[in-house]
Amino acid sequence: MNSSTFKHPLRVFYSDDYAVDEKLETVSKSKLLAKMITDGKAPGVELVAPKLAMEEELLLIHSPAYVKSVLNGKLKYLAAGFWSKELLKSILATTGGMRDATIEALRNGRSGSFSSGLHHANTNNGKGLCTFNGLALAALVALEKVGEVGILDLDAHCGGGTADILKKNKRVRLADVSVCSYDAWKPLAKSRHFLEIVDQPRDYLATVRKAFKTLEGVEFLIYNAGMDTHEKAGGSAGITLDIIQEREALVVEWARERNVPIIFALAGGYMWSGLTLKEVAELHLETVRAFNS
Ligand SMILES: [Zn+2]
Repeated sequence: MNSSTFKHPLRVFYSDDYAVDEKLETVSKSKLLAKMITDGKAPGVELVAPKLAMEEELLLIHSPAYVKSVLNGKLKYLAAGFWSKELLKSILATTGGMRDATIEALRNGRSGSFSSGLHHANTNNGKGLCTFNGLALAALVALEKVGEVGILDLDAHCGGGTADILKKNKRVRLADVSVCSYDAWKPLAKSRHFLEIVDQPRDYLATVRKAFKTLEGVEFLIYNAGMDTHEKAGGSAGITLDIIQEREALVVEWARERNVPIIFALAGGYMWSGLTLKEVAELHLETVRAFNS
């Protein structure tokens, strides 16, 4: 199967609200990626502006006290100097982008949002550069239309926030392959939950394949496509571009073979190990290209 399988172009959610010019890659890299799309580096892909997330949506996934504190400008987990109105707008836009990507994929089979900073946000707090859990919101939006939803989290770090919000939900399956134990969580049910932290790069793709077994039967897939697994983007020595490209192909192929609608979020990908922001964005372009193939 290829992109001709789909009647519509790949629509990805992004607006200028997503990007804030500062040193946090989670809110700055999307702008460079959007430029690569408008420059034709993934031909045919359309960028669409989402509606901002609304308070009542945030209350589906977070406690009222936490939502209120963020909307009032108190982000306890971020250094005070990082706070700005632009940052809040970015957070609301990138969270809304996950909702709109879900609606688009339910209609047309695939979509994505250039959103980062989602999976560590738990019911009562933000954590690890994540404020609102757009993955959890996407899952609840999809569950209005389908019976079971899967979240595949291949960011370098574990998705403890997502698990905190959703692991008791019997209609959600969580498959998490990480290369670092940060924000690890305890699976409740083997049939619905998979978490493995990979030590050896040679085991990485085999573990991703194993994780898919937990997702068998879902009718919608949310993919947290972290690039911080790459050896130069914050990840593990030996996880190279070849491995990342194979990973993206595997994810897309898995969903297409089963006719499962799928969306992606960018997730992690950093300059800590020497990449420029543009090089980080180029890694994320691999996900867009795989979805557009
Ligand atoms: Zn990460």
